[in-house]
Amino acid sequence: MRIAAQSLQNVKAGIRPVDFYRSELPAMPLPLGSGWRDGGLCPFHPDKRAGSFRVNLATGAFICFSCGTKGGDIVAFIQKRDGLSFPEAVQRLSNEWGV
Ligand SMILES: [Zn+2]
Repeated sequence: MRIAAQSLQNVKAGIRPVDFYRSELPAMPLPLGSGWRDGGLCPFHPDKRAGSFRVNLATGAFICFSCGTKGGDIVAFIQKRDGLSFPEAVQRLSNEWGV
């Protein structure tokens, strides 16, 4: 499965990380602000205590200081959370967000 560079560009340009994480992480504490912040419970390990998962609402990067999962953008987030390849993750984001 090939992915057009255009699709990736559309996903990057059409989905703001702040909107993405507000949708994907409903438990993320408010207010949102910008840059690195508390992402609430980590979606990558059975997290019972908030405080170790951080997301960057400007770039989409994420890191968990508890389980060590990290990535540089929302495509990486979807890949790791849902076990998808890079093209699959771009395709899913494109479909789900209509970009
Ligand atoms: Zn974690």
